[in-house]
Amino acid sequence: MTAQPQSQTSPTRKRAAALISGGLDSMLAAKVVLDQGVDVEGVNFFTGFCVEGHTHAIRRKDRSREKRNNALWVAEQLGIKLHIVDVIDEYKEIVLNPKHGYGANLNPCLDCKIFMVNKALVTDVLGRGYDFVITGEVVGQRPKSQRADTMPLIAQESGAGDRLLRPLCAHNLPPTLPEREGWVDRAKLYGFHGRDRKPQMALAHSFGFTDYAQPAGGCCFLTDESYAGKLADLWSSRGVRDYDFDDIMLLKVGRHIRPASHYKLIVGREEGENNFLAGYRKRFVHLTTLSHTGPLTLVDGAPDTDDLILSARITARYSQGRNADEVSVEVHHLSGAVEELRVTPLSPTELEPAWQVGA
Ligand code: SF4
Repeated sequence: MTAQPQSQTSPTRKRAAALISGGLDSMLAAKVVLDQGVDVEGVNFFTGFCVEGHTHAIRRKDRSREKRNNALWVAEQLGIKLHIVDVIDEYKEIVLNPKHGYGANLNPCLDCKIFMVNKALVTDVLGRGYDFVITGEVVGQRPKSQRADTMPLIAQESGAGDRLLRPLCAHNLPPTLPEREGWVDRAKLYGFHGRDRKPQMALAHSFGFTDYAQPAGGCCFLTDESYAGKLADLWSSRGVRDYDFDDIMLLKVGRHIRPASHYKLIVGREEGENNFLAGYRKRFVHLTTLSHTGPLTLVDGAPDTDDLILSARITARYSQGRNADEVSVEVHHLSGAVEELRVTPLSPTELEPAWQVGA
């Protein structure tokens, strides 16, 4: 997907691909180079794990928050073209078998950065023939991928070599080709270091940027402990480390409750999530409450009759009838048959903490 009209390009101007996550650092890095007269285009890789507005768009409590694609918004602020590239299938190998391992959760940040720089510049996935690539990395900012010893590794293993420019921390690194060749003025780059965000915020202020995204732990769900716990549970319950796109989308939504290894419930937490889960109801046995307002519950796995009774009791527990003696629950089977169960809602003490996945 491409957005924004392209700025006028002179044949002598150098062309750079800026990795744009939608956060502040990549925005500033692109801006610093853009202001030096380089023809900058943004590249945003869609991995399926991107935080980008997904749960904000679904959950009612987040509805007051502005819904926007932050990468597109950044491109609009900078007046650059943005390419959004779907890498869901290729990225799987990075998530499943990261050569350099994971960060605090299931985030393969180092392999991820190597992959993205390689795709943008070396593999030239867009066929744009960029002269160099820009990232918003800052030495010392992230424990896994943004360390003094991993910066050269990303340049080397991505194949970009010294055509990888980090404008925000360039003064802490050896001069790159764009600096040595005078495509950019090294004196106008920065020497940010460490986890302190104040220099970035001051630079943003100097550019007049006020309304930028500030992702807490990172740019994707893989840095999230709860999400990583659900993904690890998915792999262990299936006995295989694999996923498809629907799997990773469903991990972003609902309460995940696994009463036994052979099945898991995904219980909508509110109307927006129920509506989202309803889109999957043909693929899963699912439960709804009849006598009281309640959630939609998907059952992932192979539940037997007793499992479905427990599933109905759990669903009732999260309904308006949680304190009632009996709640009527409909079980919608994959065959299309619908069965009504009258159950006592599960009490809080009966709900085993160990069943709550990623809690
Ligand atoms: S937080 Fe996610 S998208 Fe960002 S570098 Fe790490 S793995 Fe890649």
